[in-house]
Amino acid sequence: MRDDLERILFHETTILARLDELAEQITRDHLGKELSVVVILHGGMVLMADLLRRVHMPLWIETLTASSYHGGTASKGVVDLGPDGLPDVKGRHVLILDDILDTGLTLATVKKQLIESGGAEGVRTCVLLRKKKERAVRIGADYVGFEIGDEFVVGYGLDFAGRYRNLPFIGVLKDEVIRGELPGKGVE
Ligand code: 5GP
Ligand code: MG
Repeated sequence: MRDDLERILFHETTILARLDELAEQITRDHLGKELSVVVILHGGMVLMADLLRRVHMPLWIETLTASSYHGGTASKGVVDLGPDGLPDVKGRHVLILDDILDTGLTLATVKKQLIESGGAEGVRTCVLLRKKKERAVRIGADYVGFEIGDEFVVGYGLDFAGRYRNLPFIGVLKDEVIRGELPGKGVE
């Protein structure tokens, strides 16, 4: 294991096996519908590639940039949406894909906008991870890969200060790396 990681939570094979199950559920729930998948960047892109290749029905893929962490390890409570605006989802069934449900602010903000401004017909949400915690924003997710404790994780799309997204597994960083005392190094 890399020396900047405390431990691995989910190995790649475990993640991919779970994606097989989620993809089957998503396919079953949306058969015959016009489905637009809206991927929240950058965190949702690894999930997008692995999950959507397992969904066997025609669909459209759109992206949206959203950030609430701004380089740290806790949500700043404000969600910035990217400059390109909302994708065109008018009259479409939408599935929002994101890496993780933490405070819920990102999913709640994006969902509200897609319905109210975008005119989506219906919106469901899918996250790879959901943190088990009390949330100020009352939002669930329709499809959840794994539930985890309230700790900061990286890998499989999730970053720390822009790095670690390309780790093929989900892990927990050592505290020293987060505090900046142990510079992250090694092969990613
Ligand atoms: P929320 O708006 O639900 O608080 O946070 C959602 C966003 O914060 C996620 O899309 C993700 O980018 C980031 N985030 C939340 N928890 C974690 C975490 O444990 N690790 C990393 N790397 N990002 C997280
Ligand atoms: Mg994100």
